[in-house]
Amino acid sequence: MTEFHDFNLHDAITRALAEEKYLTPTPIQAQTIPTVMSGRDVIGIAQTGTGKTAAFALPILHRLAGKPRALEPKTCRVLVLSPTRELSGQILDSFRAYGRHLRLKSALAIGGVPMGAQVRSLFHGLDILVATPGRLLDLVQSNALRLGSVECFVLDEADRMLDMGFINDIRKIVAKLPAERQTLMFSATMPRAIAELAGQMLRDPVKVAVAPVASTAERVDQRIILVDRAAKPEILVEVLRHETVERALVFTRTKHGADKVVRRLVQAGIEAEAIHGNKSQGQRERVLAAFRNGKVKTLVATDIAARGIDVDGISHVVNFDLPNVAETYVHRIGRTARAGAEGIAISLCDSEEMAFLRDIEKLIRLTIPSTDRRTQRERSAVSANAPSRGFANAPGKQRRRQRGNGGSQQRQHGQPRNEQRNEQSRNAQSRHGPSRHQQPRRDQPRHEQSEHEQSNQSGIASVAFLHRNASPGRGDAQGAPRSTGHSKGS
Ligand code: AMP
Repeated sequence: MTEFHDFNLHDAITRALAEEKYLTPTPIQAQTIPTVMSGRDVIGIAQTGTGKTAAFALPILHRLAGKPRALEPKTCRVLVLSPTRELSGQILDSFRAYGRHLRLKSALAIGGVPMGAQVRSLFHGLDILVATPGRLLDLVQSNALRLGSVECFVLDEADRMLDMGFINDIRKIVAKLPAERQTLMFSATMPRAIAELAGQMLRDPVKVAVAPVASTAERVDQRIILVDRAAKPEILVEVLRHETVERALVFTRTKHGADKVVRRLVQAGIEAEAIHGNKSQGQRERVLAAFRNGKVKTLVATDIAARGIDVDGISHVVNFDLPNVAETYVHRIGRTARAGAEGIAISLCDSEEMAFLRDIEKLIRLTIPSTDRRTQRERSAVSANAPSRGFANAPGKQRRRQRGNGGSQQRQHGQPRNEQRNEQSRNAQSRHGPSRHQQPRRDQPRHEQSEHEQSNQSGIASVAFLHRNASPGRGDAQGAPRSTGHSKGS
């Protein structure tokens, strides 16, 4: 089996990895690190939680460590683009954690906060800039940043970028990059637009792929409850009362829906909080901290807001609303069952969502066991309009669908519900969230306090020197070494 030392990474990086208690590279790391070190472009198909951040951060740090260069003002050597503030903050944390023994300058450029500090941090040039696309373009347009010296460009979560309407911004950014560069692109899925973008952006890339979408789905114990729309809140209350919940992440389609669900849960005596794009950064951080430390067991979130949440130990994912995009379902349920643990995903499906359910089952090639809690009236209405699901109400292991079984099924609703679009605008990018690589307090589990939370109230990480011999802050008190199994979602 490959070990980190097999890669011959710079000593300072190997030391940081030991302090992080990373023992074995994850599969995406094993495939990507040597390829990036060889200078090739990479297209990586990997979801969050696979260790893909280290897969690109480690060889990039190795490159920077091996080729120190005087920085030119208003430039960066490495540019990483990510779709959300949270993810950007986490990526920067990772670079800083793995590069803590290197003397590198890094910063964050994210939307939703004043630009002044970001402009100042760019002034003398940076080694690493992690940015969201809108703010990056604003900085370029205001002459605070020139992209002509970028040696290495990383596009993370490319399919999310597409979902969030960033694709044109990305094209504009890529057009400003030098042709002579190394490009790494990561995406959980490969829709056609992303494959085309990859064709334009990457030069003879090596393709690495891990954890195909369906395999996440297979690890999670999934259940469907067929319900009348109006009964959803009541059934949710019941589910949360009856299940042994360590932490539940409940997904709603809209921000308004999230608030409504929280009100209903609180009424029923279930402590719950909502997290979505309308919440202030302070509110989001408070809610996330409460979810992490177990004060609040139920977090109600929209897809966009949930993307940046990096919380281990989510025992249940509940889809209050089914997503209209089947891949989103897989991303959602992937929040549980991390590190090979069995998680539970329960979806409330009303008659209008049956078509979404069929799309999901087609994608994961599984028939999810269902319980029918619909009223007779609803059932007859549905059976008059739609084919039956054609499977029993038996709980238990989901059954594998015959390949192509769902192929003939037709989408019933031409108009997907698109209210979440509001949240997908550039301005609604969620603020960057808690970090993954901070110094935890001794009484605190790892990943609980954000470096950014502590260091920068405005939400901008200013230029940071990662000093050689900086205290790693990873005492033995942190417990057992981490194995290749890893957990986190972004
Ligand atoms: P990512 O997929 O990059 O978001 O990473 C998922 C989580 O796995 C993060 O919390 C990382 O700190 C952690 N991680 C990444 N690589 C390893 C490794 N080789 N061993 C243990 N943990 C890791």
